[in-house]
Amino acid sequence: MQKTLSIRVHPSIAAQDRELRRYIVRELGIDARSLSDFRIRKRSIDARQRTVFVNLTMDIYINEPAPQAYFEPIFYPDVSEAPRVVVVGAGPGGLFAALHLIECGLCPVVLERGKDVHERRKDIARISREHLVDSESNYSFGEGGAGAYSDGKLYTRSKKRGSVEKILRVFCQHGASTDILYDAHPHIGTDRLPRIIEAMRDQIRRSGGEVHFQTRVDALLINKEKVEGVRTSAGKEYLGPVILATGHSARDVYRYLHQTGIAIEAKGIAVGVRLEHPAHLIDQLQYHSREGRGSYLPAAEYSYVSQSGGRGVYSFCMCPGGIVVPAASGPQQIVVNGMSPSNRGSSWSNSGMVVETRPEDLDGELGPFLKEAMSDESFAATHEDIQEPSNPLRIMYLQEAIEKACWQQGQYRQTAPAQRMADFVNRRLSADLPASSYSPGLIASPLHFWMPQAVTRRLIDGFNQFGRKSHGFLTNEAVVIAAETRTSAPVRIVRDNNSLQHIGLSGLFPCGEGAGYAGGIVSAAIDGERCAEAVKNLLGG
Ligand SMILES: Cc1cc2nc3c(=O)[nH]c(=O)nc-3n(C[C@H](O)[C@H](O)[C@H](O)COP(=O)(O)OP(=O)(O)OC[C@H]3O[C@@H](n4cnc5c(N)ncnc54)[C@H](O)[C@@H]3O)c2cc1C
Repeated sequence: MQKTLSIRVHPSIAAQDRELRRYIVRELGIDARSLSDFRIRKRSIDARQRTVFVNLTMDIYINEPAPQAYFEPIFYPDVSEAPRVVVVGAGPGGLFAALHLIECGLCPVVLERGKDVHERRKDIARISREHLVDSESNYSFGEGGAGAYSDGKLYTRSKKRGSVEKILRVFCQHGASTDILYDAHPHIGTDRLPRIIEAMRDQIRRSGGEVHFQTRVDALLINKEKVEGVRTSAGKEYLGPVILATGHSARDVYRYLHQTGIAIEAKGIAVGVRLEHPAHLIDQLQYHSREGRGSYLPAAEYSYVSQSGGRGVYSFCMCPGGIVVPAASGPQQIVVNGMSPSNRGSSWSNSGMVVETRPEDLDGELGPFLKEAMSDESFAATHEDIQEPSNPLRIMYLQEAIEKACWQQGQYRQTAPAQRMADFVNRRLSADLPASSYSPGLIASPLHFWMPQAVTRRLIDGFNQFGRKSHGFLTNEAVVIAAETRTSAPVRIVRDNNSLQHIGLSGLFPCGEGAGYAGGIVSAAIDGERCAEAVKNLLGG
């Protein structure tokens, strides 16, 4: 017999198999020997009240065996003789597009500018050690894309339950823990992601697809408003419909599209800082206990949202028990982001704290900052470029200006400008800084003074609001690190809603976060699958 049981238990029961079995037996009033097994279907932590509970929904198997597997594995056929489809970029968008093309009976040829996920690790380590950013291999570029060295958080605001579950199952089939199928806030962790990404690449190759590293696409092959393939930086051509999944940091791709007259448009983003607290402090606040998380709870998460001056101010991409990383993708940039290992066991918890920024803000409140930043002659764009409302790269220039200002404040290294949180709110330079996970090092800097006022004023307002909601959150034990600028794409590569092809070019499928149609690992992966379906429809499959 099979039953579904929903319970609300103390974390110590949820965390221990033996305790959980005992609880089930008691709850159902059955003989312990008749309980064959159970499968968790949903798990969430309820920390709204003083006592923290874990909510569980389970399938219980009484006197009958539980199914062997949590899910039916996907069959990937041999597609070596099938029509070829070019996939540019091996981030979540590109990888999931490639795997889904195989499911559709098409042969993916994946072209990735960066190195494979293991080689890439060495270049990432060099950023902290030598302050050198390789423009082709960094936190954004390389196999696995921006999602490889991340927290691997797999929650999304997407309401398409079926699509989300499919993505999670594909991750599991390639080595992720089945926990992600039932956790309310699933995550994989940066220590486990590389092996999973490697398994996906092996699957693509085993099915007859191709994956080429250190292969940067520099141009599209266009014939009478139809994209017929791509040309790489080495001059090699690959033919077929093109799924363009190059992510939001491929600024050279945006520049190429703009110069070639291919329709793109400016899109709003969010910019701000990374905020890092001691993890035990966040645990104490969120779990309402001096003991913090105790033995059975994970590092605590938070999520804050507010409004200030007509713009959203919110926490973004929270990494409990994580580290702040140098996520620049080129020289003369400082960009910060966060990642965490699977056990979320570091001594810090961080999140982006960002302010919604719209293209029209460039003409208003952001004007003075930009005028100053763009008077620097080494800047590729001019202030006139940014003032032109029809210029689709305007928001990208804003990102560049902030990142460059950070690099200058950081003394032309990856040392990130930072300020204690309460000092930032009180507009005071910090005399010293707390210990931080950011390994290239921090330098005390008056962020409140030199960052765009349209951003800092709202952040200060937001921090005050968050501090009122959660007493102890606004503290000088926390540090504000600049700058968080890569929250989403600054450009949309405009596509038709039905065919998913570019509005002006058939055979080109702008895909994932870089195209402006996704944000985060899961939604980029879903978009990759949708683009693969759209290619199948084009080819009449
Ligand atoms: C440090 C960090 C932590 C993050 N943490 C999370 C998280 O926990 N959860 C979450 O949901 N999201 C997270 N994100 C965001 C997430 O990684 C992205 O939303 C996601 O990776 C976007 O997928 P994508 O495939 O569209 O683009 P990307 O992942 O950016 O992949 C694009 C790929 O295209 C390649 N490429 C670019 N240009 C070219 C070219 N010309 N030729 C060939 N290849 C090219 C790049 O090298 C890259 O591999 C994080 C990002 C970072 C940087």
